[in-house]
Amino acid sequence: MPPKDKSTTKSSTSSTSETGVFSQVQYVKGVGPRLGAVFASRGIESVRDLLTFFPRAYEDRTRLKTVATLEEGIKSSVAVRVLSSRKIQMRGGRSILEARATDDTGTLSLKWFHAPRGLDARLAAGTQIIVTGTPKLYLGRHEMIHPEISWGQSTEVSDLNVGRIVPVYTELDGIPSRSFRKVLWEAIQKFGASFPEDLPETCRARHSLPTASESIREIHFPSNEEDIPALVGFATRWHARFIYEEFFKFEFFVLQRRLRMQRELARPVGVAGGRKAADDLEASLPFELTGGQKVAMKEILDDLARDHPMNRLVQGDVGSGKTVVALLTAAAALAEGAQAALMAPTEILAEQHFKNTQKLLGGRIRTALLTGKTPESERKVLLERLRQGEPLLLIGTHALLEDPVEFAELAVVLIDEQHRFGVEQRRTLRKKGGDRIPHALLLTATPIPRTLALTAYGDLAVTTIRELPPGRSPIRTEVVLANQRARTYELIRSELRAGHQAYFIYPLIQDSEAEGFTSLRSAMTEAETLATEVFPEFKVGLLHGQLRPDEKSEIMDRFKRGELHILVSTTVVEVGVDVPNATIMVIEHAERFGLSQLHQLRGRVGRGSAQSYCFLLSHPRVGELTAERLKVLEGSQDGFEIAEADLRLRGPGEFLGTRQSGALPFRMADLVRDKDWLIKAREDVIELLQVDPHLDRPGQKPLREFLAREGRLQMELLKTS
Ligand code: ADP
Ligand code: MG
Repeated sequence: MPPKDKSTTKSSTSSTSETGVFSQVQYVKGVGPRLGAVFASRGIESVRDLLTFFPRAYEDRTRLKTVATLEEGIKSSVAVRVLSSRKIQMRGGRSILEARATDDTGTLSLKWFHAPRGLDARLAAGTQIIVTGTPKLYLGRHEMIHPEISWGQSTEVSDLNVGRIVPVYTELDGIPSRSFRKVLWEAIQKFGASFPEDLPETCRARHSLPTASESIREIHFPSNEEDIPALVGFATRWHARFIYEEFFKFEFFVLQRRLRMQRELARPVGVAGGRKAADDLEASLPFELTGGQKVAMKEILDDLARDHPMNRLVQGDVGSGKTVVALLTAAAALAEGAQAALMAPTEILAEQHFKNTQKLLGGRIRTALLTGKTPESERKVLLERLRQGEPLLLIGTHALLEDPVEFAELAVVLIDEQHRFGVEQRRTLRKKGGDRIPHALLLTATPIPRTLALTAYGDLAVTTIRELPPGRSPIRTEVVLANQRARTYELIRSELRAGHQAYFIYPLIQDSEAEGFTSLRSAMTEAETLATEVFPEFKVGLLHGQLRPDEKSEIMDRFKRGELHILVSTTVVEVGVDVPNATIMVIEHAERFGLSQLHQLRGRVGRGSAQSYCFLLSHPRVGELTAERLKVLEGSQDGFEIAEADLRLRGPGEFLGTRQSGALPFRMADLVRDKDWLIKAREDVIELLQVDPHLDRPGQKPLREFLAREGRLQMELLKTS
């Protein structure tokens, strides 16, 4: 409970040693019930939470200006004496408070349209104040609207709002920065010195990082000598300390969990004929594996041979041939009498995998398909075969996760387009193996920038397939503005006449009246227009997520067979779909999509030997930045390069999918800006876990205490599988 009156506040804050920075935020002077409630709604509960509510920017108010030297539009502080103030009544009962003030170099007008109550009385003639605001010239005189006021003339450093570099905080529920300054100042006076030092001394020393308590103080109230651009860019050593600390703790959890998983038991696969079976199957393929695929196979087979579970992510651009790698992995397990499961995010994909497996491997590995469409009688028989331990590769959708599905000998799980699944779903599949944990191979076509791979996927080993199978010609990509549409349509027409096929992708299924969506073209409406007005001589099909599964696969099949020339769709075709005769990809409102997503969509074409095209139709009103962003795709087909650009431009959300609901738990660290710190922190953690995995050494007391205190809480934040 928050203390009710001042005396309790005093007595409890003066004996802070008990709970220190972990006491409730109400113990900070100035935090009453209202502010406390606002803080609580933002998850700021303890003093420590408050102290790590870091400024988002800084203002240089180290020097006061005079009225004569004020410059229009430049935020400044000036010490003045009030000459007069008055309320001007407006129509409708509102009033404006206006004051005139001077510093003997000139006069300044101050105005409030919503004056705080009682302000007019405090602005009596003769009162000394320091005002901060952005001056504007009005009728030949400078005026400031809603300036910040410091009362009295003191320019000593003890004044929090002038005469210093002042922190600027994110405004919460209309609470201005100056209120935060005051509260944070109080918090630092009382609690700053007891801010816990969680980092091992050796790590701090290695990188010459300051202590936590010094850093907290300097970040909120920097000394006047501090470099403003460095502060604003979070590039001071004080900031670096917390950036490193966030990464260090994060990596510690992730790598510790990885160690733990590596100690679990799994069924080793390989020596009893599995490796040979995979090699034989590889030799029988109609093509030779690319270098990247070969490396992947070697890494995977080495992992499988251990009696601890593999946890490996294979990332490779669309078309890089990840499926074959997964199938060879399954073959190794099957050859030793074990079972394997391949889970795909959609029925279309699961069916495609099933058919391709038949085509590519014929009867050389035993497969079965299980989706929502599988008839009940067939399903029953299949489930019984799985329970009996028949060595087969089960390919399917989420249907694999359902309760009655039980494997007697599940040794390998393969998860295609893994970012489309939640952590829980992957975990469920892995539990289907009984008492031994199956080896897990996760596939993703969204190349993940290295820094993200180390954080979001830090508990996985990562294999990267960088090259595409030979014989693919690059896709010609063009950003098209609305007024060039006609020309593009003609080019498409000639491709269609030559017997090729086209995808048209839209951000919406139907037209929408919702704000911000009214001007968007939708798949349904445009399918109609394309079929009747633009390409009446060709057959147009429509695919979207609201269709029934059987409707979807029927449309997809007709497109594959060439009965449909144009497939109008939402992003449901994004993953995996393989129609080599399709050479045209048109994406409407390309500005609405992330670059990596566009790159994936584009990967639906360029799968055969013919020249393919991708047209990114972009709305004429888009800003410069968007056009620039889309240009990245014109110039690059390297998924990794595109992913890096996406991370820089749009942040990590794009990549995480359902793996983590929300962003990564970093308050100060930024994966792009601070990636060097991430690498350092990770290396330090790896070293620490090698020499002292249980933190037994005396030097690890701080970290040990931190884990005891907050370890479980922090683990919750991670939610990795
Ligand atoms: P993705 O990595 O996007 O899942 P796929 O596994 O669907 O890619 O492979 C795309 C196509 O390339 C498939 O038709 C597959 O049979 C073919 N393929 C895979 N590996 C090779 C290779 N080494 N040489 C030639 N074609 C290959
Ligand atoms: Mg695939």
